[in-house]
Amino acid sequence: MAHKISGGCACGDIRYECSADPAFVAHCHCKDCQKASGGQMGTFVAVPKAAFKLLAGETKSFAYIGDSGKPLQRHFCGRCGSRLFADAEILPDMLFVSIGSVDKADWLEPSMHIYTDSAQPWAHIPEGATRFAKMPT
Ligand SMILES: [Zn+2]
Ligand SMILES: [Zn+2]
Repeated sequence: MAHKISGGCACGDIRYECSADPAFVAHCHCKDCQKASGGQMGTFVAVPKAAFKLLAGETKSFAYIGDSGKPLQRHFCGRCGSRLFADAEILPDMLFVSIGSVDKADWLEPSMHIYTDSAQPWAHIPEGATRFAKMPT
């Protein structure tokens, strides 16, 4: 039985759910996640796009070219600005849902740190954690 993930933005305009188990959960230390999140890193849960459904509201989005050289689209709430998910052409069947937007994320412990090359020197990466200097290979 798949765990259902539900979530939304801070103001409540946008709600979503996903009916499939997540593929993986990761902390991303790339510069872009730092900028876009306003924090030391971005943390996301990768879910199959086919199982993801917007229940309420419409996202605004911002497109740019990711580190991979492929287009990426970040979706957020146009009213409160909460980041919701990203859609990357490099993995077209997946959506990368911002973990802070998930209603109940206590069971979604990230299994890896990626883009540690650009991590802040004071970022805490636990001893023995799985890490990738850039994208996982
Ligand atoms: Zn909102
Ligand atoms: Zn990133």
